[in-house]
Amino acid sequence: LDTVAAVAPDVARAVVQELADQRRNIKLIASENYSSLATQCAMGNLLTDKYAEGIPHHRFYAGCDNVDSVEDMANARARELFGAAHAYSQPHSGADANLVAFWAILRARVELPAMAKVLGAEDPEKLAPADWQKMPIAQWNEVRHALGNQRLLGMDLASGGHLTHGYRLNASGKMFEAHGYTVDRESLLLDYDAIEKQALEVKPLILLAGFSAYPRNINYRRMREIADKVGAVLMVDMAHFSGLVAGKVLKGEENPIEYADVVTTTTHKTLRGPRGGLVLCTEAFKEHVDRGCPLVLGGPLPHVMAAKAVAFTEALRPEFAAYAAKIVDNSRALAEAFLKQGLKVISGGTDNHLVLVDVGSALGITGRQAEEAVRRCGITLNRNPIPFDPNGPWYTSGLRFGTPAVTTLGMGPAEMAEIASVVADVLRAITPGTNKSGGRDKAKYTLDEAVEKKAHARIKAL
Ligand code: PLP
Repeated sequence: LDTVAAVAPDVARAVVQELADQRRNIKLIASENYSSLATQCAMGNLLTDKYAEGIPHHRFYAGCDNVDSVEDMANARARELFGAAHAYSQPHSGADANLVAFWAILRARVELPAMAKVLGAEDPEKLAPADWQKMPIAQWNEVRHALGNQRLLGMDLASGGHLTHGYRLNASGKMFEAHGYTVDRESLLLDYDAIEKQALEVKPLILLAGFSAYPRNINYRRMREIADKVGAVLMVDMAHFSGLVAGKVLKGEENPIEYADVVTTTTHKTLRGPRGGLVLCTEAFKEHVDRGCPLVLGGPLPHVMAAKAVAFTEALRPEFAAYAAKIVDNSRALAEAFLKQGLKVISGGTDNHLVLVDVGSALGITGRQAEEAVRRCGITLNRNPIPFDPNGPWYTSGLRFGTPAVTTLGMGPAEMAEIASVVADVLRAITPGTNKSGGRDKAKYTLDEAVEKKAHARIKAL
């Protein structure tokens, strides 16, 4: 950091302050973790200086031998780790990985067949660049029209889906006619029969499974059945739980790799690697996924691919499987402790790395008030919509807790019980403020000072 400080001391200071912040506060953000120093060093070096558009051994720049090795290592280790036929480690983030997947599927299933039709060609896979590069604009517009008329069926944002799964403010909601499936109103669990009924009506090109805030595991065998019934491509976004797949906690019907055509993930959540994305797929989609550049990406980030290779090496070790199992043990312990404290846990518990607590209906506060109050006491987490949330995605009625980071720190069920007890005390000590018309304000609140002080001391002692 001295080298950074010599150039930009304010930047170096921000890094040190972030270190202090992450040490001072307990990290319960479900999408965060602590990457290893090896991963961080692999990411912070001169590999950042290299351009390498293309794929290994087939580049548009000279001098890519070392990037080729790095990318080969990342891809080979990802294939081994997940048991996937093909891996593509260029996406810069989870959102990028999803864009690569969407456009690879669109190219294979819509664009090439549409071009073949327009050009009167028999085999879409045999079209040569010369065939489509010379297409008159009117023909090309027919292809673009076909691309723009496709349907996506993914999990609704409020039920736990992600922005990139068809939310209207995201490119995915504009590229596709996007439909969302929800959880069951009573159980707050996925209802596969209802998803099947909806899929039969919508007839999507892509059936998308995966989530950011659903505390249960998914039955991918059932999702595959549904996809097959409607002729959809099954895509799974395992951004949140890929560490649980890598650590073999999710097996059989709960392992997306065994059932999906295309699987995307981030590399920095439960997987504990650098910030980035990854696409895994079957042989049928391999060639299209490898065209991430020029489909949506420019040059890859060689330094981040190096860090992915390091993180995958770590995840291949037996210790990682033990770590993944402990993440879920801790999450279950946390959910049980919340229930003992009388808090309302969405779906009554958890099977994975996250727990969702409804603070709205039972305590009359918003997720925003709760998030801020808990942070004042030394716990960093995020507010989250709960299914059918009356407070919308900004104020929300929920808090999302995740155990990947605290498990990396070596915490166990005893610490989870203590955290749940502190959180419950703090939530009960919040009094919502009033707005100008005398009603409850969704942002303002007061927190009992004595409770805050005591909570802070208990968190510091952990
Ligand atoms: N997909 C899911 C399910 C996610 O939860 C997230 C991030 O939270 C993403 C995609 C996007 O990942 P990134 O923030 O790396 O773009």
